[in-house]
Amino acid sequence: MLNSFLLLAEAVLYFSVMVTLFRFRKRIGLGVFVCALGVMHFLETYLASVFYVALPFGMVSPGSAVLFSGKLVMLLLLYMKEDAATVRQPIYGLLLGNGLMIGLVLLLRLHAIAPLPDGRLPDIGFIDEMGWLMVWGTTLLFIDAILIILLYEKLGRTLRKAQFARILICVACVLTFDQAGFFTALHFVAGAPIAVFFGGWFAKMAAALTFSAMLVAYLRWFEAREISVPRGLTDIFDTLTYRERYEALVEHVGRDGLTGLLHRGRFDADGEAAVEVSLRTARPLSLLIIDVDHFKSINDRFGHAEGDKVLKALATLLREVASAEDQVFRIGGEEFAILSSRPHAVARLFGESIRHAVKASAAASRFELTVSAGVSSVGETTRCLADLFALADQRLYKAKSTGRDRIVGEPGGHEPDTAAAWTKSAQI
Ligand code: GH3
Ligand code: MG
Ligand code: MG
Repeated sequence: MLNSFLLLAEAVLYFSVMVTLFRFRKRIGLGVFVCALGVMHFLETYLASVFYVALPFGMVSPGSAVLFSGKLVMLLLLYMKEDAATVRQPIYGLLLGNGLMIGLVLLLRLHAIAPLPDGRLPDIGFIDEMGWLMVWGTTLLFIDAILIILLYEKLGRTLRKAQFARILICVACVLTFDQAGFFTALHFVAGAPIAVFFGGWFAKMAAALTFSAMLVAYLRWFEAREISVPRGLTDIFDTLTYRERYEALVEHVGRDGLTGLLHRGRFDADGEAAVEVSLRTARPLSLLIIDVDHFKSINDRFGHAEGDKVLKALATLLREVASAEDQVFRIGGEEFAILSSRPHAVARLFGESIRHAVKASAAASRFELTVSAGVSSVGETTRCLADLFALADQRLYKAKSTGRDRIVGEPGGHEPDTAAAWTKSAQI
């Protein structure tokens, strides 16, 4: 009698705490619930391996009757209120976590173990038994969890209105299957008599009834209303969350709203740092300033909105041609800058390939679009970002004044035609 009462108290305690964690998942995160489920899984395995109590119909472990049945109901609840993609996380997590535990135990067994001062040694036999139970139990759990979801879905067609019956049938069927699976293993390995099957089965059916009733009550009384997410929970993790949000904001602020490229402010900050590194390490650094030719006439003829689309498309193109190491900025209305670790000649060829790509992409649209660019590199006469910028800007001006649709780099450098021949051989 006392044992039955205690089992019931354990089920109520387990269920109440777990659904409370679940209920506040939007506030504290679903991870709290899932983690608690994992910890309970460990206790469950331990209890199922050594902790049994006598009931009128047989020997029962709180590990399987309360904690295992409860866990299955929790997984069903997770599926009902969230989705399959969420419920598969703890299922795979438990499976893989158990695999890891067994792997670690295999290694631990190889230790030359020193006895404690009072002569105690770890119970290796127990570890073995638990490991064995864990492999089989977790495999069964994996099947059970999938089975309960499939069954719940299948019963939805006939029992949509009768929620209690639907949950009870699911839980009872899966627990019966599980008991049969577990008993089969116990029977063949440890020679367990059939009475063990029925003892455990009765207890699991009582658990199915208790948990199903509690689940229906919980769903009806507590899950019907949405809980609003509060602004700010006063715990230490709040600060961390805010730091994360602040960083996301800073990242967002560093970007230009129209094109999503890094903006002028970032260019000044990142550019200065990059020049300094280049001067210190002698690693090449080149700057390309790219300006759209006669962009004003696109605005004038097609409107500002169309002009914006062109700028967006150009930004996408620049991002695509740039390598992961290049930084692409929008530094003005229709002016872009690329900081690249290519040496000067290669950076200029890179500019040429951009010029060609812009022309090719514009050929498909209704207007002509060309760009001009000035290229400069650290090491020419540059000591800081301002020098690098002034030089590239000067060359951009030269590109504009000598006919546009061209890339101008270091005087005496390769002219576009020579550069075109280079393009084939050099790696851009
Ligand atoms: P070029 O550079 O070849 O000398 O001629 P341009 O017509 O491009 O001359 P300029 O650089 O003086 O003109 C830039 C134009 O870009 C002026 C402005 O209307 C337009 N512009 C600047 N910012 C934006 C923007 O965000 N969206 C749109 N649609 N247009 C912009
Ligand atoms: Mg322009
Ligand atoms: Mg301009």
